[in-house]
Amino acid sequence: MNLKNTLIPLLSVILVLGISMSLHAKGKPFHKKPIKVLMVGGGSSHDFDTWYKGADVATLEKDGLAEVTYTDDPSTILQYLGDMDVLFLANNQPIADEATRQAIFAFAEAGKGLILAHPAIWYNWNDWPEYNKTIVSGGSRGHNAYGNFNVDLTEKHPVTKGMPKNFSLDDELYYFKVDTDGPGIEILANASDEKTEPFPSIFIVKNPKARIVGIALGHDAASHELDAYKTLIRNAVKWVSK
Ligand SMILES: [Zn+2]
Repeated sequence: MNLKNTLIPLLSVILVLGISMSLHAKGKPFHKKPIKVLMVGGGSSHDFDTWYKGADVATLEKDGLAEVTYTDDPSTILQYLGDMDVLFLANNQPIADEATRQAIFAFAEAGKGLILAHPAIWYNWNDWPEYNKTIVSGGSRGHNAYGNFNVDLTEKHPVTKGMPKNFSLDDELYYFKVDTDGPGIEILANASDEKTEPFPSIFIVKNPKARIVGIALGHDAASHELDAYKTLIRNAVKWVSK
C-alpha cells in the first residue's frame, strides 16, 4: 500500500469536512426546509379564520416546521397544489371543479401527504363518492351534540407521539364509519363517552401510495387550543410528508 496515495485523499476529505463544519458553525443554525402545506378551510358551522387560518397555521409554523398557505376558496387549490408537500383539508364546502378533484387524486397517487380534518371526513359531497371511498375510506353522517367525551389512543405511532394516552375534551363526537370497499383504516385513537360506542377519532387511511391521516376532532377552541391537538397536527404534518 502506498501511504502517500492514501494519506493525501484522506487529508483532503478531513480539510473539506472541517471547512464545511466551521461554515455551519458561523452561519445561521442549520434547519431543514419547512414542510410546504396547503390548508383548505371555509364553509358553514365553524370559525375557520380563528381556528384553522389562525390557530392551526401558527401551531404548524412554530419553529419553522411548516410553511402554510391557507385558502377558503376551493377554486384556488389547483394553482397552489403543485408546489406542496401536504394537503390539509378542513373544508366544509364542496370542491366542485373536476380538474381540482383530479389533481387531489393525482397528489395522492404521487405519494404526497394528506390530512383530513373534521368536516373533511364528513359525507359532504353526494356527487363525489370517490372522495369518501378512496381518500377517506369512509365518513361520518352524524355526531353527538357538542359536549365532553374521551379520546383513547389505541397504539404507539409517530402521529400520536407525545400525546397523553387518554384525554377528554369538548367537541363533536363523529360517528365515523369505515367503507370496506375503500383501502381501510388503521385506528390510532377512538372517541367515546358513557352512552356512545367508540368511533375512530384519529386514524391512518391505508392508501397504497399516499400517507393520509384522518382527524375527527376540531370543532372549536376546545380542541385547537389543546396541547394534545397541537402535538397531533404537528406530528401528522411531519409523518405524512415523509
Ligand atoms: Zn364541527
